[in-house]
Amino acid sequence: MSIRHWIDGKPAEGTSGRSSAVTNPATGAETARVPLADVSEVDAAVDAAARAYRQWGRSSLAKRTEVLFRYRELINEHRAELARLITAEHGKVHSDALGEVARGLEIVELACGIPQLLKGQSSTEVSSRVDVESIRQPVGVVAGITPFNFPAMVPLWMFPMAIACGNTVVLKPSEKDPSATVRLVELATEAGLPDGVLNLVHGDKTAVDRLLTHPDVSAVSFVGSTPIAQYVQQTGVAHGKRVQALGGAKNHMLVLPDADLDQAADAAVSAAYGSAGERCMAVSVVVAVDPIGDELVGKIAERARNLTIGPGDDPDSEMGPLVSAEHRDKVASYVPKAREQGAEVVVDGTGFRADGHEDGFFVGVSLLDKVTPDMDAYADEIFGPVLCVVRASSYEEALDLINSSRWGNGTAIFTRDGGAARRFQLEVEAGMVGVNVPIPVPVGYHSFGGWKDSLFGDHHIYGNDGVHFYTRGKVITTRWPDPSDGGVDLGFPQNT
Ligand code: NAD
Repeated sequence: MSIRHWIDGKPAEGTSGRSSAVTNPATGAETARVPLADVSEVDAAVDAAARAYRQWGRSSLAKRTEVLFRYRELINEHRAELARLITAEHGKVHSDALGEVARGLEIVELACGIPQLLKGQSSTEVSSRVDVESIRQPVGVVAGITPFNFPAMVPLWMFPMAIACGNTVVLKPSEKDPSATVRLVELATEAGLPDGVLNLVHGDKTAVDRLLTHPDVSAVSFVGSTPIAQYVQQTGVAHGKRVQALGGAKNHMLVLPDADLDQAADAAVSAAYGSAGERCMAVSVVVAVDPIGDELVGKIAERARNLTIGPGDDPDSEMGPLVSAEHRDKVASYVPKAREQGAEVVVDGTGFRADGHEDGFFVGVSLLDKVTPDMDAYADEIFGPVLCVVRASSYEEALDLINSSRWGNGTAIFTRDGGAARRFQLEVEAGMVGVNVPIPVPVGYHSFGGWKDSLFGDHHIYGNDGVHFYTRGKVITTRWPDPSDGGVDLGFPQNT
């Protein structure tokens, strides 16, 4: 099967002659080829978006919300189908894929409220008969470049808000699992979105570089790994674009001695191994403050050993395979390396094989204890089901460790002490903080984004930051002569 681009309201066959394989991670089988766009194909998508912008940029809020409300209904109707497409190419279990669609749908619902979000501000009679109005207008053509781990949710973080604000869009989804994104674009057309408002090109660095340098692209939203996020931001900004580039993460979960350790262990296992650890908000480090380390590690290990791993379309599976064989091998390599570097391997999942799915990209879950910051398993973003436990002697030592990380996406504290939690939420250097919540992904009307190497650019994504990113401000100062005015006045206004 050949997957197609989507340009100017219809599918377009790839013409570059280059393509890459899409595989089913549960079986290892190639299920489709995805074309990799060349510069002329990206240009065709940007041209379509630029043409469509002439009308869409001036469309009424009533027209935009009419389409968005219909789109919301269509996604709702196609939830299960979208989730099946995600599982078939990403590997995550069906329930998790349904959750991904639901979290993406939140942003469509937020976008349905765009008339309220775009309301400007005005001041009347700032001087004699002078009124001032601040409005926000769309920026033009925007690009959205997305990662493999949320092929529905992350694109939905971007294009519904961009379109609601009056922009037109060119999406470049991950080449590893593009089908769910393609289906979302088809549904948007079905919802009544005019041709050219939402376009999609598949591709790799060639396509991304063209989007980053194309003179008609005004803004770029990117989500992916830290090195590419940094590159995208620097290249886009050097070419005069507004860029928000969300990067990788290493999220710490701090457990204080007074925490409910059963709840903390449940949370750690869910947040570390859910979606096989391929979440930018996964917990990848538990920081256990003395003296509860041994007890907590015991509880996490007991739960980790009992997880059911299998194909994502089997309702009994709690965790599916990783996205590719290369990624699985890289993830697995951290376990023996950590052992060599002095960590205690409490659970070793590297030898796991899924019966009947020997060619799938499966790996079991691993738990590494007594990890220290100099070890590779701590220093790198593994992006797989490998959980590190670092022991700390005090809250201060734990906080220092977390704040020394190069990343600052999410973090969480588990405690019964409100004062300690409050102190942590103010002192920790991360963009999203959970208090007894292990994966604090903000709801649609609060923006999502990290600090430090987890975000390059000034705007978080969706919520009010999303509206700001996809619009630019304009201030209008108006003076209408009063019917009683008249006569020439050469003086400068004196504000009296
Ligand atoms: P990735 O950086 O490899 O790819 C992301 C996008 O960039 C893809 O569309 C890809 O085609 C493109 N790309 C890849 N290499 C490129 C290059 N050299 N030049 C230009 N473009 C390139 O990321 P991934 O492996 O698809 O996704 C996993 C990463 O994304 C993890 O690091 C994860 O933490 C991160 N992520 C972050 C968030 C967040 O909100 N901060 C959310 C999801 C995923």
